[in-house]
Formats: sequence, C-alpha cells, structure tokens
Amino acid sequence: MEIGVLALQGDFIEHYKVLQSLGVAARIVKLPAQLEGLDGLIIPGGESTTIGKLAVAYDLMGPLREFGRQKAIWGTCAGAIFLSKDAQRDQPLLNLMEIEVERNAFGRQVDSFEIDLSVPFLEDGGDVPYHAVFIRAPIISRVFGQAEVLLDLPDGRIVAAQQGKLLATSFHPELTSDARFHQYFLELAA
Ligand code: GLN
Repeated sequence: MEIGVLALQGDFIEHYKVLQSLGVAARIVKLPAQLEGLDGLIIPGGESTTIGKLAVAYDLMGPLREFGRQKAIWGTCAGAIFLSKDAQRDQPLLNLMEIEVERNAFGRQVDSFEIDLSVPFLEDGGDVPYHAVFIRAPIISRVFGQAEVLLDLPDGRIVAAQQGKLLATSFHPELTSDARFHQYFLELAA
C-alpha cells in the first residue's frame, strides 16, 4: 500500500511523518502523474482557497476527481473544504463529497481550540478519548446524498463525515501523536 499527501500548501509534512511512523509507504504529490499507483490520498489543512487555486494552476482538478471516484481520499480541515460540494462561496472545489461546509465556523485564529472526544469507531475509542485540534476550522453544516455523519461535538455540530472511501474531518489528526485516525483511513484505503 502506498498513500500520497497532496503538497500544494499547508501541513503536508506532518501527515507524511505520521504515515512514515506507521511504516506506510508515503509519497509527496504535487503533480498529476504522481497520483499514479497510489491507494489513497490525504489533503492536508492549510488554506482551502490557496489549495484550490494551486490545484487549478497545476491541472490537478480533473485527475483528483478521477482519483476520488475510485480511491480513498481524506481531507483534513482545509482539505475537507476542498473535498466538499459546497463551501457557500466561490472557490475551486473537488465536488466529491456530498457535504456542505461552513468555513471558519468557530471564529478567528484566536478562537482555535482543542477538545477530547469520544470516538467509538476508532481502536479503543470508547475508552481512550481522542484529542482533536481545531484551527480556524470549518464545520460540516449539512450532509446529504451518500455522505454520512461520522462524528459530532457535544453541541451537535458535525466535525467528521464519510462517503464510501472519502473521509472529511474538521480537525487536524496530524498534529497529535495519536495515529488512530490515520489508521482508520488506512483501513478505508486498503
Ligand atoms: N480556515 C481555513 C480555510 O477556510 C482552514 C484552516 C485549516 O485548515 N486549519 O480554508
């Protein structure tokens, strides 16, 4: 198995390092040809407008959509926005996941926060809380079609969704030492 990390902008190196620490073959992806042969792709957090504009400039939009119709893609934070069908404003989107997102839904940079969540579908998820890091994060404001809610906050706001092999999380699993979300994604990609 080999997993790519889209490296246009954002914290792709952190995802790459988590994959390496799990002993998974990992590949930095900047160009369409580098998608060849991958089993899955992670789109990191960063700035979704920038990631989208660079993907257009590098002719990646079509190849990424094609990839996502067959293979696993996981978008974290800005990556989740980029995967969505609707970000409620005009920016390049992959339109792969039937989710609507609300950007910067928790407020500005100073309103970034961390929270322990119970995530039953992760290994030991019922017993060992998952520490989730939200940095100027979006929420998933609506899930429709084939997409399903995976995780919400205690107040009911949706922060993770799944649609087949496509996964979207509002938070940043690459910024903690807990690799259980990466392991979950590797199972989807396998
Ligand atoms: N605020 C960014 C956006 O809307 C996402 C932030 C992040 O990825 N941590 O694109």
